[in-house]
Amino acid sequence: MLTGIFSPSKCADCKLCCNFHRSSAWETPALNEAQIFLLNELCVPLEKRSDGTTSFFLNFCTDSEDEIANCPMLDPNSGCTLPREDRPFECRIWPVRVMREHSRLVIGIYQNCAALEGDAFEKLREFTLKELLPQILEYAHKNPRAVREFDTAYQIIWKS
Ligand code: SF4
Ligand code: SF4
Repeated sequence: MLTGIFSPSKCADCKLCCNFHRSSAWETPALNEAQIFLLNELCVPLEKRSDGTTSFFLNFCTDSEDEIANCPMLDPNSGCTLPREDRPFECRIWPVRVMREHSRLVIGIYQNCAALEGDAFEKLREFTLKELLPQILEYAHKNPRAVREFDTAYQIIWKS
């Protein structure tokens, strides 16, 4: 959805969104029923999380909090191996995220995203508010368990 706003080559170098420390394993993206079906067909390891959503199983080899595991769909050389239309919604809108702050919904942009140089942040903010807002709110309405708690690493661009 957002490749017209910032450079895919930045993501190819960074890959921050597609690998996870053990302590941030809860950030793996929530999957919908169609994605779960597809990934089961492909024998991709999945797991049910404590919030009731299903996501990717991360294959950590040790108990270390510092160990990093890749999303099983990540090819370290070429990036995400899922077709764009089959990616989890959270992946398709990243570095935008819908969150809950107390009882309100907020939408924020991850401030440490390496791709948001120059005017990319402002372009992304405008695009999100003009084009993505209805889809994001519909997603949050249909998937309330997948809405994360607000994190100060995100700059809020919209509040309910
Ligand atoms: S943090 Fe930003 S630059 Fe890095 S992979 Fe994610 S979207 Fe791309
Ligand atoms: S599904 Fe693709 S974009 Fe999403 S975390 Fe996994 S590799 Fe990254």
